[in-house]
Amino acid sequence: MKQFECGSLVPGCAWHTRAKEEAEVVHRAVEHMRTAHGETVIRENMVDNIKARITDEADAA
Ligand SMILES: [Zn+2]
Repeated sequence: MKQFECGSLVPGCAWHTRAKEEAEVVHRAVEHMRTAHGETVIRENMVDNIKARITDEADAA
């Protein structure tokens, strides 16, 4: 599982998400940026920032 914690990019934000695919995590994170942080223009730079903060989470098996 891939995990992204918004607080690593936007200090103080407790939102986080996780999914099997990195692309899905990026997609959800971008949507969150739009709805929660008013980012109407998602720059390439932001996607890179999100990707840089995605961490691997061991599958609970
Ligand atoms: Zn956030």
